[in-house]
Amino acid sequence: MAVFGATGSIGTSALDVIARHPDRLRVTVLAAGRDVEALLVLCRRHRPQHAVIADETRFAALCDGLRDAGLDTRAHAGAKAIEDLAGSDACNTVVAAIVGAAGLPSTMAAARAGKRLLLANKESLVLAGELLMAAAREGGATIVPIDSEHNAIFQCLPSARTQSSIDNTLARIILTASGGPFRGRTRASLADVTVEQAVNHPKWSMGPKISVDSATLMNKGLEVIEAHHLFGLPGARIDVLVHPQSLVHSMVEFIDGSTLAQLGLPDMRTALAVGFGWPQRIDSGVGGLDLLAEGGRLDFEPPDLDAFPCLRLAYGALAAGGTAPALLNAANEVAVSAFLQRRIGFLSIPALVEDTLAAIPASPATSLDALHDADAHARHHTAQAVAAARTPA
Ligand code: NAD
Ligand code: MG
Repeated sequence: MAVFGATGSIGTSALDVIARHPDRLRVTVLAAGRDVEALLVLCRRHRPQHAVIADETRFAALCDGLRDAGLDTRAHAGAKAIEDLAGSDACNTVVAAIVGAAGLPSTMAAARAGKRLLLANKESLVLAGELLMAAAREGGATIVPIDSEHNAIFQCLPSARTQSSIDNTLARIILTASGGPFRGRTRASLADVTVEQAVNHPKWSMGPKISVDSATLMNKGLEVIEAHHLFGLPGARIDVLVHPQSLVHSMVEFIDGSTLAQLGLPDMRTALAVGFGWPQRIDSGVGGLDLLAEGGRLDFEPPDLDAFPCLRLAYGALAAGGTAPALLNAANEVAVSAFLQRRIGFLSIPALVEDTLAAIPASPATSLDALHDADAHARHHTAQAVAAARTPA
C-alpha cells in the first residue's frame, strides 16, 4: 500500500495501524512534501519499495539518506512521481493524506486506476468532487472516507458504500462538529486570537491547516461539500450539529424515522482500520468507548453562523455549484496559510474567502482544466488581497 502524506498526522496514524498487521498489510510506497529526515525515518522502519519527496530540491538528500541507510528503496521526486505511483502496480491501496489541493492529482490517479482509496484529502473532493467520483466509478475504485464524520456515515449505511449505493431511503445526514477551540465565543472576541490558540484543538490532534479550519468551522463547511459528493445528497439534507464531546462521529437518518450513529474515541486510527480492513474489522490500537469515563454526557447545540461564517459560505458555494467550491477552497488555503504565517488576523480568513467568492463569478465545472483555472484565479485574487491588507495606506 501507498501512504501519501506519510509524515503528517493522518500518515503517521495510518502507518501505526499498518504496523499492527505485518501479516496482511505492507507499505510499498511512502511520499512526503519536503521533510526528508522524517521520510527517511519512516523508510528505515517500513522499508518501502519506493519513496517520494515532492520538493525536487530535496531529491539528492533523499538518495543520500537511503544509500547511507543501506536500503534498496527507489528514490523519486516531484508531484508527477507521486501521481504516477498512485496509478501503478506498486500499490493496490492508496492512503490519500496530502493536505490541500496538492493532493488532487494523485487522488485522481488512484481513483482512475481502481485502487482502494482511503480518502483523507477532503480538499480534492471539494475541488473536483464530481470528476473524482466519476473517475472512481469508471475505474472501479472503492473509496473509504477517512474523515471521522464521513467514515461514521459509511459505517452506518446499509451496504457501507459511497455514492453508487445511495437510494431514496436516506432522509438526512447529520454531521457532528466539535465546535473547535473557540466554541461559544462571539465574533468580536475572535479578532485577536493567536495561531497557537487556533491550532490548539480541544479533541483532535491534527495538522495545522485542518486545525485552523476547525477553529473557523470551514472544516465543517468543507465536510458538507465532501458529504454531498460521497453520499449524493443536496446541501439541504446535510445538517451540522455541534457536539463538544466528539464521541458521536455523525448520524444518518432514514425515511422511517430511524437515526443511526457511530461512536468512538476521537482517534483517526479507527477510521483508517475500517479503510484497510473493510468489510472485515481489524485492530486499530484504539480502545473501546467508556461513556461514563468520558463524562457520561452527549451534548448537542446548533452551530453559530454569525461567529463562524465560513460554514455559511461553504453551504453557499455548494448551492452555487460549478467552480464555486473550488474558489472557496483555494481562497481558504491561501488565507489559512497567511494566518499561520501571522500575516493576517483570524477574522480575515472568512472575510478573504467571502471577498474572493464575490469577486470571481462561478462558472460550470466541466473539466479539470476549468477547475484548475478557477483554483489559480482564486489563489491569485486572495494572495493580492492579503498583500494589500499588509500594505500601509
Ligand atoms: P499534516 O499537515 O499533518 O500532513 C500533511 C502531509 O502532506 C505531510 O506528510 C506533508 O509532507 C504532505 N504534503 C504537504 N504538501 C505536499 C505536497 N505539495 N505534495 C506532497 N505531499 C505534501 O496534515 P493532516 O492533518 O495529516 O491532514 C492531511 C489531510 O487529511 C488533509 O486533507 C486533512 O483535511 C485530512 N484530514 C485530517 C484529519 C486529521 O485528523 N489530521 C482528519 C480528517 C481529515
Ligand atoms: Mg472531520
